[in-house]
Amino acid sequence: MPSNKYSLKEIFTEKQILDRVKKIAFDISNKYFDDPPIFISILKGSFIFAADLIRATNLDSEIDFIEVASYSGTSSKGSITLKKDISINIKNRNIIIVEDIIDTGITIKFLKEKLEKLEPKSIAIVTLLMKTQVQNLDFKIDWVGFEITPEFVVGYGLDFDQKLRNLRGIYILGGNESE
Ligand code: 5GP
Ligand code: MG
Repeated sequence: MPSNKYSLKEIFTEKQILDRVKKIAFDISNKYFDDPPIFISILKGSFIFAADLIRATNLDSEIDFIEVASYSGTSSKGSITLKKDISINIKNRNIIIVEDIIDTGITIKFLKEKLEKLEPKSIAIVTLLMKTQVQNLDFKIDWVGFEITPEFVVGYGLDFDQKLRNLRGIYILGGNESE
């Protein structure tokens, strides 16, 4: 057990994740070979996924970061605050937004609309996880690592109150085992 303070049930191992990341990276490498993208990693949750993803591509790409807050504990607040903006000029460039997980879709919709105003050449979205039953998105997600049920998950960058991001696999966070 990676941590005995929490009740954790592994749903994806490190190997399963890295195999999937490699497949997505291969696809992205083929698609963007002629015109490498700027990856925009949504902080903080996607930083580990973004790091593995860009290292698994063979593109002369760039990376930037944007940070929003939309979550408190394990429940969504439904409102979004921008905490850190991008610093690269994305006009006429191919953009790939890198997200850790799409739950209601509110965050990704907000960011896509925000970045579209800066007139990139194209915008694609890659998310490691997607809670299937949830969103009513009016646009498609280009790459989804894994579809999952609506439980709260942690690890591989995803936190519970800023902790557990360092776990190598992805886990469903349950109640306290000692209760
Ligand atoms: P949405 O706006 O799609 O409802 O939520 C997106 C954000 O909420 C994600 O980027 C992520 O930060 C957070 N989030 C949603 N579901 C989970 C989850 O199961 N675990 C963790 N750690 N964060 C989540
Ligand atoms: Mg996130």
